[in-house]
Parts: sequence; structure tokens; C-alpha cells
Amino acid sequence: MSNKNKLFSGFSSVAIHGGHDKDPSYAHLTPIYASSTYVFDEAEQGMRRFAGEEKGYLYGRWGNPNTTEAEDKIAALEGFGVTDENGNPIVLKAILHASGMAAISTMLIATLKAGDKILSHYSLYGGTQQLIEIVLAPLGIEVIIIDLRDLNAAADAIKLDSKIKMLYLETPANPTIQCVDIDELTRLAKFNNLIVAVDNTFATPYLQQPFKYGVDYVVHSTTKFLNGHGTAIGGVLISKDLAHMSGYITKVHHLLGGSSNPFDTYLLTQGIKTLEVRMERHCHNAMEVANFLEQHPAISKVNYLGLISHPDFDIAAKQMKHPGAMLSFEMKSGLDAAKKFIDKLQMCIRAVSLGTCDTLLCHPASMTHFSVPKEKREQYGITDSLIRMSVGIENVQDILADLEQALR
Ligand SMILES: *Cc1c(COP(=O)(O)O)cnc(C)c1O
Repeated sequence: MSNKNKLFSGFSSVAIHGGHDKDPSYAHLTPIYASSTYVFDEAEQGMRRFAGEEKGYLYGRWGNPNTTEAEDKIAALEGFGVTDENGNPIVLKAILHASGMAAISTMLIATLKAGDKILSHYSLYGGTQQLIEIVLAPLGIEVIIIDLRDLNAAADAIKLDSKIKMLYLETPANPTIQCVDIDELTRLAKFNNLIVAVDNTFATPYLQQPFKYGVDYVVHSTTKFLNGHGTAIGGVLISKDLAHMSGYITKVHHLLGGSSNPFDTYLLTQGIKTLEVRMERHCHNAMEVANFLEQHPAISKVNYLGLISHPDFDIAAKQMKHPGAMLSFEMKSGLDAAKKFIDKLQMCIRAVSLGTCDTLLCHPASMTHFSVPKEKREQYGITDSLIRMSVGIENVQDILADLEQALR
């Protein structure tokens, strides 16, 4: 029996069984379909499949059983418990990509054209910002960046420029873990007929479900918490416009060629199964770490959505189940102290990226933002001593002990 369209009452049941189809050879897990092409019994069958009259795979870039399972699982999670205007369970379609950037590229290229503008917040993921500036700007698609926590500023910006076609939200976002109000901003955008897209990577569908507020698209870098183990790069684009997703957007995805591969997709599918238990532990540990850091004499500031001191505490409490696993902090002494601290870590890992079982720490000023001039960095809150932390699911006393000895 297929678990495909079953409605489970719990999130983890969907995470584990959702999207799974019984394997023709009775393998428990969907095997890795390492095959670039698919076979026809006869030419007529090929014709029927190409015409869409008969279901079946054709060519690896256009999908395989591993892709279908991951896509259906993620769509079920993103829509878990979410209802449409009529109170019926929402139905979503997900398209898996080779990376978060590939998913974002498909979405932007498929929905915008020359002359259109994107309205967004000033702490966009670096890759997204550069995609817009380096690739889309020469094609005539521009971005307007403002502080979207100011709803009046958002309303004014939309009123002032009729070329704005899309509101692009990323919440929570780097590096100071800012949040914007998905509900209020989506209302405003929909009143003005804008497309609304949300990068939900930091939160995952377990903590936050933007489709509750009527957004059009959600993207994830599945590389992060969805995979959860740091074993593969991947991305996903999700929408409730099923016809558009199966039609034009799938076409654009196939033509841009950013398809995932069976092995990475297999790893993603296994990783997602533990999303709920991992996120619970991630968030629990992050709260403990934030409390520890906030009281530590060497630390001047902690940015964590679970702390009342965070300016976006209320927005996070309104739209997220827990405050997440991402935090950042500033040390009282500057650049050298921050580098020394990072170098002294023994268990926690010095690396960029986020969302793995392991605790990861990075020092943006010497790593991701090394090439950005100091004044520009600081505008985005990236001071010399800022450390970003993706709190892992190790035993929290070991994380705290490692931080303690490194801060000494
Ligand atoms: C990592 C990340 C991306 C890009 O994803 P890749 O899988 O690296 O291509 C996009 N948005 C956010 C918020 C990210 O953290």
C-alpha cells in the first residue's frame, strides 16, 4: 500500500512515511536510481509517456523515483495542517533542485521578466543577493532593499514603484537572525497584487509554514536542516499553484538544468525523517547556549530569537513554533579575540553552512564576508567580533563546556 496521499495526524509520521511509494522489488527504502535514462517497451509507449497519457520516467534530468519521493515528502510537510480559504487541506507541489540557489534561480527566472523589480529585506542570503545583482540585473530585473520590519516603509516602497512585482522574504535571516512579519507583509503584498516568495531555510516547515499566510512560493536550501547531516547540497521550490508548477515552472527547471541527483536525493529523504526530533533538540540546545552566552562576561551581545532582548522576539513568537537553532554573538574584545576563540574550539566545528547535527561556528568578518569592506559589513551587523553559530544536537553540556574553555 502506498503512503503517498495518506493524511497522518503527526508531523514525524509524514516526515518518515510521506511521499513513499512501495518499491517494485519490495526494498524497504527506495533504492538509489542511478540511471540516466528510462526504457520503453515499445515506441508507442514512449509516445504515450512523452504525451503525458501514461505516467513514467523518461530521462534523469526530468526526474526519477528518488526525486518524486523527496518532493512529495517536502510538499506534505510544508502543507502539514495548513488549510486553504475553504478549510480544506492545502495541496502543494515541490520541485527538487541541485541546490538552494538552483531553486531560487528557477523561481525568479520563471516568474519575473525584464523591467520587474523585487522588494526585499536588507539581510538577504549572500548568494541570493549576488544572483540578483550579477545575473538578474543585466537581464533587467532589479532589487529594492529596505528594512521590511517597517511596514509603513514597505507600503510606501510598493506605492512609489509600480514595477515591483515580487516581495521576497527570508526569515529568520543572517547574520543577526532578524525576522520579518510574513502575515502582515503578505497581506500588504496581496493587496497590491504582488507575488510573495519566502526562503524558509532557517526555520524549516517544522518551525514555520509560510503557506498559512497565503504566500505563493517557498524555497529551501535542503542542504541545511532538511538534510540535517551535512551530506548533500540540494534545494526545493514549493507552490500551491499546481498547474503552473507542473507546467511552465517545471519546464523552466528542466531547461535551466539544475536537477538534483539520485544519491543526494536519497540522503535528503533519509535526513528529513528525523526533522522533528532534530529541531526540538536543536532549539532546546540553542536556548541553553543563548542563556549561557548572554551571561558570559566576555560576550557583549547575543542575537537569538528566544531572548527577550532580540528586537524581533515578538514576530518570531507569532510565526515560529520555537526560536530556531541559529544565533550570533559579539565578543567584548575585537577581531583578534574572535579569531582566537574560534581557533580554540575543540568539539564544535569551524565551518560555514548550518543545520547539521554538529554545532558549526563561523566568523563572518574573516570568512564569508572577508572581501566586504568593514563599513559595508557593519551596516549589515557584521562587526569584527561577530560569531555565527548553528547549534547542533550534541549533548548540550559538551557544547557549553567547549564554548566555556574557548572563551577562557
Ligand atoms: C544556504 C542557503 C541558500 C543557498 O543554498 P545552497 O544549497 O547553498 O545553494 C539560500 N538561502 C539560505 C537562507 C541559505 O542558508
